[in-house]
Amino acid sequence: MRTRQALAVGGVTPFTSLDFPGRLAAVVHLQFCPLACPYCHAPHLQPKRPGTLAWPEVLAWLGRRRGLLDGVVFSGGEPTAQPGLVAALSATRALGFLTGLHTSGLYPRRLAEALPVLDWIGLDWKAPPSNTRRAVGRAGLGPRFAAALAMVRASGIRHEIRTTYHPAVFSPEDLREMARVLAAHGVRAWIIQEFSPRGVADASLREAPLKPELLAELRRILPGVMVRRRDSRLDVSAIS
Ligand code: SF4
Repeated sequence: MRTRQALAVGGVTPFTSLDFPGRLAAVVHLQFCPLACPYCHAPHLQPKRPGTLAWPEVLAWLGRRRGLLDGVVFSGGEPTAQPGLVAALSATRALGFLTGLHTSGLYPRRLAEALPVLDWIGLDWKAPPSNTRRAVGRAGLGPRFAAALAMVRASGIRHEIRTTYHPAVFSPEDLREMARVLAAHGVRAWIIQEFSPRGVADASLREAPLKPELLAELRRILPGVMVRRRDSRLDVSAIS
C-alpha cells in the first residue's frame, strides 16, 4: 500500500487534551526530522528510518476510536517530510476526525498540499530568518520558514504560532527579529513556550525563563505575545 510505504509512524499518543486546542485528540508521531533543535523533546524521532508502527494498523485503530476523539494531530519529527502525509490526512478526515498538524513549515510545498485537508495548524516559528543555524542546526532556512508562515496566514485555517525559548538558543535580538517579522505578517498572537529540560536533545540545558524585561520589550513590538508555562497554562498578563 502506497501510504504504508510513504508514512513512517514513530509512535502514537492515544489521548491528549493539550495538543489540539479545544479538542480531544490522538497524536500520530512521524519519524524523521532533519533539524537539530537543542530543546527537542523527541530526539528519537529525528533519524530517517522506517516507522515502528504500520500506518494501516494505526488507521484501523483510529477507526475504533470514532465517537471517543474529536481529532487527530500529525506531529513529529517533521510531518511535512513525509510523502504520505496528505493521503494520511485525507484518510483520517474520511473517518470523520478533525485534522491537526504540528510543523516547522520546513517543506512549504508539502504544507501547501496539506492545507485543504487541515482544520488546525500549530506552526513552530523556529528561528530568526537572518540566522537559522543556532536555533535548528542548519543555515539558510529563513526563506522556507517565512514562506510557510505566509501560507498559513493566508490559508484562513485556525492556527497558533509558537516558539520554544531558551537563552542559549535565542539572543534577545533574535527574539526581537522574530517578533518584527511576525508583526510585519500581521500576526497578532505569538506564544513563547517555556523550556522544559526533561528528555531534551541537549542535556546541558537548564531551565531559564524569559526575563520580564525582554518579554515587555517583545510586547512593545507585538502586543499579543503570550507565555505558555511548563504546566501548559497560557500567561497573557500585561498584554496591552
Ligand atoms: S523541528 Fe521538532 S522534531 Fe525537529 S529537531 Fe526541532 S523540535 Fe525536534
